Amino acid sequence: MPRLCSACNHLRLTEINEDLVRKIDSYRAIASKYGITESSLKRHAATHLPLKLTAAAHAAEVVEATSLLDQVQRLHAEAASILDQAKRTGTAAWRCSRSRRPARCSRCSRG
Ligand SMILES: [Zn+2]
Repeated sequence: MPRLCSACNHLRLTEINEDLVRKIDSYRAIASKYGITESSLKRHAATHLPLKLTAAAHAAEVVEATSLLDQVQRLHAEAASILDQAKRTGTAAWRCSRSRRPARCSRCSRG
């Protein structure tokens, strides 16, 4: 008779899989949290953890990284625009997007 997987038969299987996919805690910590052995958890992760879960976690990481990259690119473009404007006007003052008043330059006290 085949041996049953203690993780697959656990009432909190979904939470176990989520913890495994998030990889926040060690195998030992996750196993302890759910009252199963570390070796059972590792076997479950290696052979039973649904591929869709790991794929979904990877996709979420890609989306997050893409969003961060978009933010960096927007900030870079904004900084380049401010620098270009400062070079053209010969002043280090810049205008805050929330205010119509120019900020003061800390180096030359103009602004
Ligand atoms: Zn399993």
